[in-house]
Amino acid sequence: ALTLLLTACEGEGAGTGDGAGGDGDAAPEDMTIGVAMPTQTYERWLQDGGSIEQGLEDLGYGVDLQYADDDIPTQSQQIDQMITQGVDALIVASIDGSALTSQLDAAAAADIPVIAYDRLLTNSADVDFYVTFDNYEVGVNQAKSLLYGLGVLDESFEDADDAPEGPLNIELFAGSLDDNNSHLFWQGAIETLEPYLEDGTLEVPSGQDSIEQAAIQRWEQETAQERMENLLTSHYSGDDELDGVLAPADPLSRGIITALRNDGWGPSIEDGMPIVTGQDAEIATISLIDQGIQHSTIFKDTRLLADEAVRAAEAYLQGEEPEANDTETYDNGEIVVPSFLLEVEMVLQDNYEEILVDSGYYTEEQVESGQ
Ligand code: BGC
Repeated sequence: ALTLLLTACEGEGAGTGDGAGGDGDAAPEDMTIGVAMPTQTYERWLQDGGSIEQGLEDLGYGVDLQYADDDIPTQSQQIDQMITQGVDALIVASIDGSALTSQLDAAAAADIPVIAYDRLLTNSADVDFYVTFDNYEVGVNQAKSLLYGLGVLDESFEDADDAPEGPLNIELFAGSLDDNNSHLFWQGAIETLEPYLEDGTLEVPSGQDSIEQAAIQRWEQETAQERMENLLTSHYSGDDELDGVLAPADPLSRGIITALRNDGWGPSIEDGMPIVTGQDAEIATISLIDQGIQHSTIFKDTRLLADEAVRAAEAYLQGEEPEANDTETYDNGEIVVPSFLLEVEMVLQDNYEEILVDSGYYTEEQVESGQ
């Protein structure tokens, strides 16, 4: 055991299992950071992974970036392997936030700091830091944009003087239940919609108004499309109007819009496409917003989130603590994880240019082609 201990203390950097180091002695060139991302099917995770990799490499660190195809065992194995290979820090965007407890145990035992990326890692005390957006505010903004699109709120997001009497019919979608974010998005949205559901301005004709009924497992676009098709068949085959859909992410919104179009709604909001919300400001969706087909999305600048993750990793590797701006919200069931939250922006047809094109995030050509 003594020999092992000595060997462990001698080495520096990846492959030695010296983990956090914490002493700040090793050079970045001798250190590797494991970056575990959930899937390549959502545009945002490609951007996240790419930006984190770039940011770390710019500082001289080695990077082991892995995508797990939305498969939990694959992600567990990838992280196991990163730990065995002796990464110096881990940045993890989980598939199921509660499924990695044994990996987190092992990381802690090897003194490897773990940064939860965008999605909280739950049921473990071995999570050092969390970088994310204000997830509750995402839900609030989704609901406000829905209410605005329905004419219930005016452009200052106050109750509109000429609000329709109602009831306006809406349907609700939520994200994957094993993603902690889904619950915050839902909570923010439902608490915002609640007064209007209670006073009869809004109604959910399907009666499917719990997160369990609204959830889309693994955030899959086809599942959202199917659920929308089923809702249309069961509740809107007569003359019933559907006025709006709360959708929590752009690929789900596009699945929902496809179901609606196939059923003869639209093609655009002007000709009867319901008000559909979203999240992530994916390019295909910005194009739909430009064309007046999807009503809104939420922009979360993943480049800034990647910067925060890099900053946090670097702090640990230099033997310091990253600075948190929220130490109260993210109770993961074991500990309250110190967090850094970024702000989000609501994107509509009349502000996408300013937020996304003028800022250089997308070009006008991309918006036109949707790619
Ligand atoms: C992220 C969203 C994303 C969703 C599906 C959530 O955890 O916060 O930005 O749309 O996962 O990938």
